[in-house]
Amino acid sequence: MTNELIVPRGFEVVELTTTAPCAIHSVHTPVPRINQQHHWFPQWLQLIIWGEVRVKATTVVCPTGHVNVHDLINHRILHGEFPGTHSGSTYKLAFKGFSAFTDNGGDVATAAAHLRGGGGSE
Ligand SMILES: [Zn+2]
Repeated sequence: MTNELIVPRGFEVVELTTTAPCAIHSVHTPVPRINQQHHWFPQWLQLIIWGEVRVKATTVVCPTGHVNVHDLINHRILHGEFPGTHSGSTYKLAFKGFSAFTDNGGDVATAAAHLRGGGGSE
């Protein structure tokens, strides 16, 4: 199975770039020219489920870290648990994002349905 980012029509994913340092890694090879503002939980998914962005927190991460954090969040939503050792800065940031979603009333089954592209009950 793949974890492709499925962006529905009418929604645009804007990657906010910055030269601020990555919060996950202290060393990068190669060094990215730019880093990204990681939204703790995908804005497009929040907009579909809630019609608004409730989880507004962001953290600056490198592009590689960004992809990995979202892959962990997607894995948690789709498979019911985080993969791997559950340690390290990447996991901690993914856990914060997932927790922020559920703490704001987010329904994991609905999020999973949207990630699979099948729509949700809300
Ligand atoms: Zn990094």
